[in-house]
Amino acid sequence: MDTLTSATIALIDELVSALGAEAVRWGDAIDARYHADWSGGAPVRPLALVRPANTGDVASAMRICHAHRVPVVPQGGLTSLAGGAMPQADAVALSLERLNAIEQVDAASATMTVQAGATLQAVQEAALAAGLVFGVDLGARGSCQIGGNLATNAGGNGVVQFGMMREQTLGLEVVLADGTVLPMLRPMRKNNTGYDLKQWFIGSEGTLGIITRAILSLHPAPRAKVSTLVALPDYASAIRLLRLLQSHFPGALAAFELMWEDFFSTSLRWRQAASPLPQAYPFMVLAEVTGHEEAALADSLQRALGEAMEDGTVLDAVVAQSQAQAGALWRIHAKRRRNFPRSSCRSTSMSACRSTRSANSAEQCVLALSQRWPGQRTLRFGHLGDGNLHLTTDALRWARTFRRSKPRTRWSRLSTPCSPSGAAASLPNTASACTRSRI
Ligand SMILES: Cc1cc2nc3c(=O)[nH]c(=O)nc-3n(C[C@H](O)[C@H](O)[C@H](O)COP(=O)(O)OP(=O)(O)OC[C@H]3O[C@@H](n4cnc5c(N)ncnc54)[C@H](O)[C@@H]3O)c2cc1C
Repeated sequence: MDTLTSATIALIDELVSALGAEAVRWGDAIDARYHADWSGGAPVRPLALVRPANTGDVASAMRICHAHRVPVVPQGGLTSLAGGAMPQADAVALSLERLNAIEQVDAASATMTVQAGATLQAVQEAALAAGLVFGVDLGARGSCQIGGNLATNAGGNGVVQFGMMREQTLGLEVVLADGTVLPMLRPMRKNNTGYDLKQWFIGSEGTLGIITRAILSLHPAPRAKVSTLVALPDYASAIRLLRLLQSHFPGALAAFELMWEDFFSTSLRWRQAASPLPQAYPFMVLAEVTGHEEAALADSLQRALGEAMEDGTVLDAVVAQSQAQAGALWRIHAKRRRNFPRSSCRSTSMSACRSTRSANSAEQCVLALSQRWPGQRTLRFGHLGDGNLHLTTDALRWARTFRRSKPRTRWSRLSTPCSPSGAAASLPNTASACTRSRI
């Protein structure tokens, strides 16, 4: 165990006497899982780890760290891909994992009061049990926490229908850096009592305060949903299909996920599954529509797709005939980043404006990466419905080899214009793409 300075010993003593010994760890007693998040950054052992059990404990921990002038890094489910939850050697890591209660589900007002450390999946399941749905869904649902979702204003599969975390939030409880508790837990949808302070904390990545509780807005669970996998000739067709489905199913298009052919075929290979379609196509869309009755919904979907086939927007499509078939389609999409070696992979996002410029930009990124690091593999997919494209590349592995062989060469930003605005594309391990969460 490292030798602690007297200042650190004094800090830890105070934390232990305020929160109890079971809530504070330091040195080798801090499990390695708190040393890094999903971003793939080099693990760092924090100065100390605190695991408060309630809002009062969070406030005490913050007050003590503030008095000692020690920064705090809030940690949720540690699924951040941008390094925001990475601990620091001179900072206390504050994990919300023990604040994980679903306090109340109110079916009548379609709201849920929840502690920040509850996982997204626990929230989804509690909503479903009450005949409701929570509007945010993403691949890390089993690990990421509501507090982390709020702090990152997370999006994902459901944004096209319900919006991002911000749109699902009626109230928040937040602890500020000096330990002050802000109780902004009003459950009313109409709340015109003045400034909407909670909005400051949504998307602030822990820089303004620790989110400890939230009142979330829920939606009626649809009685039926139907999924389809659609083959398209080009990106422009994906945008046309999105508009068409939105007009056929107003407010009921629940997902619209775009996959480039390389993403789709790699995913199938990883899953050792066969494509439901007889041949490969440049683009695939996985979409889901919701409604009241499955057969009628499937009929309407088939009619909409038929219309799109007539004008060449759609080349081929399958409509899932059962929830088992739908599950199989969605599993193709769920694979993605997990199968890249974690330490050698980087993901980045681009805004997907509804024009072909986004596809061209993504193309240019891949070209630039291949020219710089031949042999690298980059997969493209996106939540086109919410205007977000993702590129996941293993170029970091190649870049490391490149750096080792040419130590004087700086591994720098790519200079190829990759965004519609012409801004330089950067791999997210550049400092500018990393958010540090310090209070
Ligand atoms: C497989 C996979 C799929 C993903 N898909 C999506 C997606 O579709 N859309 C999307 O938006 N993201 C996605 N992500 C990224 C990630 O899951 C989200 O950003 C998620 O919201 C992070 O939640 P978390 O609890 O893991 O937060 P963490 O990673 O622990 O923290 C994220 C940030 O929030 C801060 N923070 C955490 N909890 C609190 C709190 N209680 N109070 C204040 N600050 C806090 C941290 O300091 C950090 O800055 C995905 C990640 C993975 C691994």
